[in-house]
Amino acid sequence: MKLIDDTGWADQPAKVQPSLVGEIDCDVVVIGGGGGGMSAALRLAEKGVDVVLLEAKTLGWGATSRNAGYITNSVAADPEMLGFLMKRERLRELYRYAEHSVHFAEEAIARHGIECDYRQEGIVMAAVSKGQLRHARRNAKVMAEAGSNAEFVEGPDAGLPQGFLGGIREGVGGTVNPGKFALGLRAATIAAGVRVYEATPARDVVDSGGRVSVVTPNGRVRARKALLTTNAASNGLSIAPKHLATPVWTSLVETEPVAPERLDEIGWTSRAPLVTLHMILESYRVTPRGTIAFGTRRIQAGRNPLPDRTPAPNVVDDLVRGFHERFPGLSDVKPVQAWGGWIGMSSTWLPVAGEASDNVLYSEACNGHGFAQAQYVGQLLADQVTGVPMHEDLAAIWHGSKRFWPSFVSNPALYLGWLADRAADRLAAIGK
Ligand SMILES: Cc1cc2nc3c(=O)[nH]c(=O)nc-3n(C[C@H](O)[C@H](O)[C@H](O)COP(=O)(O)OP(=O)(O)OC[C@H]3O[C@@H](n4cnc5c(N)ncnc54)[C@H](O)[C@@H]3O)c2cc1C
Repeated sequence: MKLIDDTGWADQPAKVQPSLVGEIDCDVVVIGGGGGGMSAALRLAEKGVDVVLLEAKTLGWGATSRNAGYITNSVAADPEMLGFLMKRERLRELYRYAEHSVHFAEEAIARHGIECDYRQEGIVMAAVSKGQLRHARRNAKVMAEAGSNAEFVEGPDAGLPQGFLGGIREGVGGTVNPGKFALGLRAATIAAGVRVYEATPARDVVDSGGRVSVVTPNGRVRARKALLTTNAASNGLSIAPKHLATPVWTSLVETEPVAPERLDEIGWTSRAPLVTLHMILESYRVTPRGTIAFGTRRIQAGRNPLPDRTPAPNVVDDLVRGFHERFPGLSDVKPVQAWGGWIGMSSTWLPVAGEASDNVLYSEACNGHGFAQAQYVGQLLADQVTGVPMHEDLAAIWHGSKRFWPSFVSNPALYLGWLADRAADRLAAIGK
């Protein structure tokens, strides 16, 4: 199997944009060119704002091109837990924001004509044990109260693979090829006239009150305002609030193509993209190239500066073992390649945006569920920075203070989470 340090979904852009050499001025500088940064820069360019976008590698190089490709209105934290911790109105605001994010991403695909194999097929938060099924039922109730149209499903009519007992079917959203999406959004960003500098990492950001100055290896950008859309790498910049984002490495594996009849034979007639209800989820989806992509289970915390890396062999082995356990009817299907990416976990496990200083705004809408949300928040921040009154969806995730609690995400905690999931799997197998 190939372990790759890039995305497995698509090739890198054929031609890299120039890197910054020298000093330039602009109105707004956006730092970090993932879905969030590109979406912000595009919005600003469309409004006629003089915008510069700085990207350490190539636009879309980070999580945006590497993820599992679920366009989902899930927020990272468990709905039942959120229902317990939050007022109902607050939860409704959060779900409204997440659903609007999905529609925003869908509209971006249509508006820019991005060919990324989007399928509006929803997703299923699937249960692989009776305990998870009970959890799904409770989650569905909380989600319905929060305004979601998700429905609880169970039994053979749900069209899920054998061994998946049921779950929550969310009709909103679906799946894309994120690599193709990133290339398409990059092309749209460049075509919109954004001044893009690739291979240009921001080394330091200084807000001196009147003006923001961004230092890069061979130059400097002076701007009225700056947006920080650097996701997992955010705390590599000292201007970011402490503990804004804990970097966590997440891996994906892709199999060889699987004949559609074989998916029917194992009961996966709906072809619904799946995420399990484990503490650390597992995801399984059929790709447009007829393969199965699956991921997560064992995730690993990292530190800035984030290295380029491939998935760890033991993590890939565990993912493959999990795939064969969940899909015994596909035990002969071979994994072909694996890659991964850095997600940024906020200390609340919820999306956040706010002010790092008077003239520097940030977003951290990731938590492993931010493909659509990062883009939507990017656009909302772009509006905010141009003086539009704060949108209610931005208000729903706005972090008023400059402080964050330290995150409890650490490698020992993540390992314990993985162990707890495996123990739950064992108990479920005994109870069958
Ligand atoms: C393996 C994996 C699977 C995932 N699956 C899903 C999924 O199915 N659905 C979902 O909704 N979410 C998923 N996610 C999360 C989702 O991909 C992210 O939430 C989303 O793409 C974040 O977008 P972003 O623009 O904030 O960050 P990124 O795409 O990470 O972009 C940040 C960019 O900033 C650049 N950068 C960083 N530091 C600097 C600097 N100092 N100067 C200049 N540039 C800098 C980076 O190079 C990068 O290109 C997954 C993530 C991973 C890794």
